[in-house]
Amino acid sequence: MKVVVIGAGQAGLSVAYYLRRFELVADEDFVMLDRAPGPGGAWQHRWSSLRLGTAHRVNDLPGMAELGLSFDTADRTLPAKQVVAEYYGRFEEHFDLRVRRPMNVRSVVNEGVDLRVDSEDLTPQPMEELKAKGFFGRRRKTFEEPAVPPAPRHAITTQFLVNATGTWGSPFVPYYPGMADFAGRHVHTSDYADVEDFRDRHVVVVGGGTSAIGFMLELEDVAAGLTWVSRRPIDWLDRQEMDLEGASAAVALQDEAARSGRALPSIVSGTGVPKSRRIAAGIERGLLVARPMFDRIEADRVLWDGGEGGMARADAIIWATGFRPELRHLSPLKLREKSGGVTVGQGAAWSDPRVFLAGYGPQASTIGANRAGRMIARQIMAML
Ligand code: FAD
Repeated sequence: MKVVVIGAGQAGLSVAYYLRRFELVADEDFVMLDRAPGPGGAWQHRWSSLRLGTAHRVNDLPGMAELGLSFDTADRTLPAKQVVAEYYGRFEEHFDLRVRRPMNVRSVVNEGVDLRVDSEDLTPQPMEELKAKGFFGRRRKTFEEPAVPPAPRHAITTQFLVNATGTWGSPFVPYYPGMADFAGRHVHTSDYADVEDFRDRHVVVVGGGTSAIGFMLELEDVAAGLTWVSRRPIDWLDRQEMDLEGASAAVALQDEAARSGRALPSIVSGTGVPKSRRIAAGIERGLLVARPMFDRIEADRVLWDGGEGGMARADAIIWATGFRPELRHLSPLKLREKSGGVTVGQGAAWSDPRVFLAGYGPQASTIGANRAGRMIARQIMAML
């Protein structure tokens, strides 16, 4: 192979579009792998009540206009997960991107001149085949023998790797004393499925970004008790919409960290939170007023100053505390610096010119991912 792209979200599709559309690589020299069952990148996993327009703006993929599609005019009554999955699916088909899925990349290894991408095929194995292989109705001979057969493995060697694996698979939850003693549910944004799971429950929402605010608004009439806490004061903006393009200070902070190999800062700490009409009304009626972070968790409550600063009952704690880049499978390449991040400039990994990180740091928005596509495809073209 000449190019392997891992991940078919906005970033991976954008790179693939530029590589394939302008015939920089032939069919047989290019492959995209994604571990999810269908199109949509991380969007396919998001909760059903999330609509386009309640998060930030979702930018169209390059070339999407050719299909007569735009997220700006998409149906906002439908779940965002459904719309994005459908549009990405049509995009893949139209540009013949042939994503291989569900293929989970386990590791990328340096093989001298080339890189080796090791993946496993997560397609459920048919019952009949498993029976034929004798996986049912027999005793395991040894303790080490797996109860279910391992997924079939594949290895691909490639000249260049574009890693576009996003962050959804790497949720971040900060540590607080007493976490393990909590008798209720810890729920991260990535596990949030349905507001009904919290009906008549006491819920504490942690986080200062759009997801936390969205959860507060959804839970208002459902939860028995609702508390919002944020690790830093909310930086409310006077405008109504997040202008990701204009959030240049936040993007610059991300870029600075990526270029110097530091761990990436939280995006929301640099952008602030716009006050849409819905949010402004929530602040007005006292719902969206965040308390400072609690400092201890007990079985059924969270406490401030060990209880002296008050407490709030909790059956569930929703951690809307963000994500980290999903790069575990790249660890054999030793790209990570001692300072905690990977040094990346213009989408290219500084320590290995064969490796590109699309959607990383300053590119971690749909508009940034589009830019990454063009930037990375150009660099690959120059080196091929
Ligand atoms: P993803 O969409 O996460 O795609 C990564 C793909 O890689 C996935 O399909 C995954 O299956 C695959 N993958 C991961 N690891 C592996 C592996 N080891 N092997 C094989 N495949 C793998 N941005 C905006 O611009 N506007 C918004 O409104 C907006 N709303 C958001 C709302 C939420 C709740 C969150 C969490 C983020 C939001 N963002 C938004 C950020 C946005 O998701 C990203 O900018 C963009 O969609 C990410 O695209 P991506 O291609 O980098 O990653």
